[in-house]
Amino acid sequence: SGALLWFREDLRLADNPALDSAVKSGRPVTAIYVLDEQTEGLRAMGGAARWWLAQSLRALASDCAAMGLPFSVRRGRSDHLVRDALRETGAEAVFWNRRYAAREIEIDAALKEELQGDRFSVQSSNCRLLHEPWEVKSKWGDPFKVFSPYWRAAQARGEPRAPIPRPSKGQIEPGRAIDGESLDSLGLEPTRPDWAGGLRDAWTPGEAGAKARLKAFVEDDLRGYASARDRPDLPSTSRMSPHLRFGEVSPHQLWHAVERAAAEGPATARDVEKFRTELGWREFSHHLLFQFPELASRNFQKRFDDFPWEKPKPSHLMAWRKGLTGFPIVDAGMRQLWRTGWMHNRVRMICASFLIKDLMIDWREGEAWFWDTLVDADPANNAASWQWVAGSGADAAPYFRVFNPSLQGVRFDPDGGYVRAFVPELENMPARYIHAPWEAPPESLSESGVELGKTYPLPIVDHGAARDRALKAFDRMKAES
Ligand code: FAD
Repeated sequence: SGALLWFREDLRLADNPALDSAVKSGRPVTAIYVLDEQTEGLRAMGGAARWWLAQSLRALASDCAAMGLPFSVRRGRSDHLVRDALRETGAEAVFWNRRYAAREIEIDAALKEELQGDRFSVQSSNCRLLHEPWEVKSKWGDPFKVFSPYWRAAQARGEPRAPIPRPSKGQIEPGRAIDGESLDSLGLEPTRPDWAGGLRDAWTPGEAGAKARLKAFVEDDLRGYASARDRPDLPSTSRMSPHLRFGEVSPHQLWHAVERAAAEGPATARDVEKFRTELGWREFSHHLLFQFPELASRNFQKRFDDFPWEKPKPSHLMAWRKGLTGFPIVDAGMRQLWRTGWMHNRVRMICASFLIKDLMIDWREGEAWFWDTLVDADPANNAASWQWVAGSGADAAPYFRVFNPSLQGVRFDPDGGYVRAFVPELENMPARYIHAPWEAPPESLSESGVELGKTYPLPIVDHGAARDRALKAFDRMKAES
């Protein structure tokens, strides 16, 4: 009898333990993906992620076809459709890789129990995280709430396993093919208006795209990563996040690829270490979400429940979303996000801080916008990072540390190259004023063709006053808690 491989957040063939186990079971294998928009309590993917998913499934379908592995995509309640697929293929064993958001865990646990009760064999594996979130614990058996001890304890568990090679075509015995929906019929991609042009230009979703991006990163940009990763004007980071989000690459593959690259090429041990620490932050976010599922939508620190967030002024929220705040680094970031579905980490922090502290808007508004517009929108990383910036999270930035957008711009985009790339209105502004155009003398403005308030907005708030207001609100919250 056959094996059913259920693809979820692991849209790849290499280093895929569920696929590997299905193949090694010696059973004929059939694979499915289920677009589940029906099961109650699942958070619907945002627009940019849906676009990515469509491309990634297309790539996976073609990779499966090349391997002779029957693969179909279905839409509906995943538990029902997995059962249907078992019936139609005559399979008696199901293989999947684990996922970690609370509702997904419930769905998987219930289905596993039911299927095992009906004498199906169910095998779940880990491929998404270097360490299972329940494995890394303090000496006293508690989950960590602070990154550094968490990461020390995780590393003390030893080197993550080596990636599993992709099975060769001859190893896979094809199972019974079953009907599926055409990808076009799923409505994952925008039609009118087609806002995905910038995404198409920026990315190649799918396992082959992930592999090519990783190769380019380790060959060209890993060297210097440790010192340049905060520079949005340089090609300084890997941009692997959407590939990781959809499981087109595993953290194990990244972990080992950077080591090999450093051994063979010019990157230093420090670059490797720093990059691995960032993977560590990803692990930590997943660990937090697993241990404290309320992190997804509620303040981790309860005292923030009394924080006097402003009712968002539509004009402020709109200016932030569209990149029209009058603060060039914020505007560049928000436009990079809209155009390409991604934003540099340093700029994500600046834009999030601006929304939360300068506009005093609840972090959940920002989290929701990022969720809709990021191609790497991830339930763990997004919520944990927003709470980190808000100061309401586990190992969070202290609330009183308020980013000054102009100074951040000067420090991390010193020549203004990043702003110029995304805010063409300021293209000719001298570097000296590009992060604070309101300070430019009239000659510089007119020579650069900038008319503040006309060609480019005046700042929507006074940063100094906004900062004081936020700190006062924070002091009040502290006094009351
Ligand atoms: P690299 O610097 O090349 O890092 C390699 C990998 O490490 C990344 O792909 C990512 O998986 C992980 N990583 C790096 N930085 C972080 C971090 N601070 N926290 C957790 N993991 C990290 N990341 C997401 O994947 N999805 C999100 O939805 C998301 N939302 C964010 C929201 C805010 C407000 C902030 C401040 C950060 C958010 N991040 C999110 C984290 C981080 O910004 C991105 O992971 C990173 O910018 C991705 O770019 P990269 O792949 O080039 O990173």
